[in-house]
Amino acid sequence: MTAPGGRRWDVIVVGAGFAGSLVAKVLGDRGWRVLVLEAGAGATDAGPDRALEAYRTALVKSPNSPYPTSPSAPSPDVPDLTGRPDGGYRAHGYLVQRGPLPYASGYLRANGGTGLAWTGLAPRMHPEDFRAGDFGHGRNWPIGYQDLEPYYRAAEHELGVAADADEQREAVGLPFPDGYRFPMRAIPRSHLDHVMAEALDGRSVRDREARVRLRVTTTPHARNGVPDPGHDGGAGYRPDGGRCVGHASCVPICPSGAKYTPLRTQARWAPSVALVTDAVVTRVRIAANGRAGGVDYLAHDGRTHTVEAELVVLAAHAIENAKLLLLSDAANRSDQVGRNLMDHPVLLTWGLMKHQIGPYRGPGSTSGLEGFRFGPARARRAPFRVEIGNWGWTWALGPPDLRVAELLRTGGPDGRGLFGAELRRTLGDRVGREFAFQFEMEQDADPANRVTLDPRHRDRLGLPRPVVHYDLSDWVKRGIAAAKGVSDQLMGLLGAEDRTRFEPGPAWPGYFEHEGRPYAYRAAGHGAGTHIMGDSPATSVVDQWQRCWDHSNLYAVGCGSMPTVATSNPSLTMAALALRSADRMHQDLLARHRPIRLKRAFEGADLP
Ligand SMILES: Cc1cc2nc3c(=O)[nH]c(=O)nc-3n(C[C@H](O)[C@H](O)[C@H](O)COP(=O)(O)OP(=O)(O)OC[C@H]3O[C@@H](n4cnc5c(N)ncnc54)[C@H](O)[C@@H]3O)c2cc1C
Ligand code: SF4
Repeated sequence: MTAPGGRRWDVIVVGAGFAGSLVAKVLGDRGWRVLVLEAGAGATDAGPDRALEAYRTALVKSPNSPYPTSPSAPSPDVPDLTGRPDGGYRAHGYLVQRGPLPYASGYLRANGGTGLAWTGLAPRMHPEDFRAGDFGHGRNWPIGYQDLEPYYRAAEHELGVAADADEQREAVGLPFPDGYRFPMRAIPRSHLDHVMAEALDGRSVRDREARVRLRVTTTPHARNGVPDPGHDGGAGYRPDGGRCVGHASCVPICPSGAKYTPLRTQARWAPSVALVTDAVVTRVRIAANGRAGGVDYLAHDGRTHTVEAELVVLAAHAIENAKLLLLSDAANRSDQVGRNLMDHPVLLTWGLMKHQIGPYRGPGSTSGLEGFRFGPARARRAPFRVEIGNWGWTWALGPPDLRVAELLRTGGPDGRGLFGAELRRTLGDRVGREFAFQFEMEQDADPANRVTLDPRHRDRLGLPRPVVHYDLSDWVKRGIAAAKGVSDQLMGLLGAEDRTRFEPGPAWPGYFEHEGRPYAYRAAGHGAGTHIMGDSPATSVVDQWQRCWDHSNLYAVGCGSMPTVATSNPSLTMAALALRSADRMHQDLLARHRPIRLKRAFEGADLP
């Protein structure tokens, strides 16, 4: 797309991912002229066929590999980290890792953002998550669940969420307005979910002194199932894209278009929204009066352009938003920009069920155990969500072809390779019994976990790369230990063969020891906290509207604003926050454009 010339815009949005696409939609619908600047290459919006082809031919299959990102806007990806045989890790990618533990989450700088490659799980946060600080870990939000509730519903409508409100109310304790129906009915449970529910429902496990009752609960999904005619007071819902048919490749790409991506929202943008791709924003221009005047961006022609607007919205992802604020020397009166980096460290455990359970079908996870997310235990150890993984051992040990290679090498009883019918029989038996649990831990906001910029490390455009300092607190490590204890009991209740084993080596950059025991974590891609929200400019970067305290017309939206990342996958909450902020932006713009009422020049004199 051509550069937009010297026009002054109502709003500039930096980043056409999840948050930016939603903000642009709301403001465009209200008639504002919105310019969206996107660092990713323009070619990536060419549809799923191109992405599929890129993925098929990629040498390394990773979440980002279907999407041809621009060399001018590099992204971190899973293969960037490898573990060392003696513990510790090596980092080879875009993020400069300072440790002591690795920040292992990737994101994607392409048009549509990380939401092209996401899994599509869309649960709400729990009311308790907004006051996590009361439990002594992390911070309280300046808003509560009820402030966000109408926007949760709006986000569920925009993303097309499939879920069962009654089940979410009973099993998770979520308050919904009476009669609320999601756009689509819950995605059906996998066969594995049914097997788990039969073995676990109504049983309990011990978490220190408390017993936690188990209930397998379906997870809300932003992917197309069967529309609910009762949605929206009986108006129903018409989904875009195909229906989920269980290709099981949601990360990184859904071939049937059933999974929501921000490209769907972009397709609904009003004509007053313009998108420029291959546009890497390098700086927010702050005027002498403290207001944001516009931004500079580097275009694909190698030239720097400046564009101006009434309002500037940074929606470039938690880490890139922090980088832009630091590059611009903006919004940092509190010294909190880049700090409080959070993620969901994930403990994986894996085993073999006694019988065939049909893994490697459907979305990555269709159900979970929600009982470890809340309650007084939160004061002692990090809470966690348990996802029941439908994709066998893929996340823990790699795809099944790695097991084929292993059997070919050493699978036989005498340590020699297995071939022919015996290989097929062994594989059929073993791979069909593989399952995993994914324990997503809350991480507390710690100012020492941070993104900084070091001019010694630069990208191809000469911009400093993000330098990440990252560690897990003892509270998180205690949560991981508790989750492993829960996993041991679940394996026992299921009568499963527990194959979980953590050891230092290339596959486990997140290896660590806690109280003499070995553990390892992967990361969920849920970066948050880097422009943290609060109720004081002394301790936070943005206010409850995601507006920078220091610049009244500069917003930083996305998970970077979250004071707690809690335990739910964060993007639905981020989407609700973005919609709420967009309402506020609209008010700000109206206030700027409101006609000035002329005052009488002289008391008593009539104006013409
Ligand atoms: C593998 C994976 C699976 C996930 N699964 C889930 C899930 O199931 N549920 C869930 O809730 N969350 C999930 N997430 C997290 C989710 O993808 C993110 O929370 C979400 O995409 C963040 O949205 P965002 O708009 O803030 O950032 P992004 O989606 O990353 O979008 C930011 C946009 O800004 C652009 N940009 C960056 N820098 C610049 C710049 N300087 N100039 C111009 N543009 C710029 C980028 O190119 C990008 O398009 C997953 C993440 C990963 C990696
Ligand atoms: S399971 Fe398959 S069809 Fe369903 S969302 Fe995932 S990739 Fe798409």
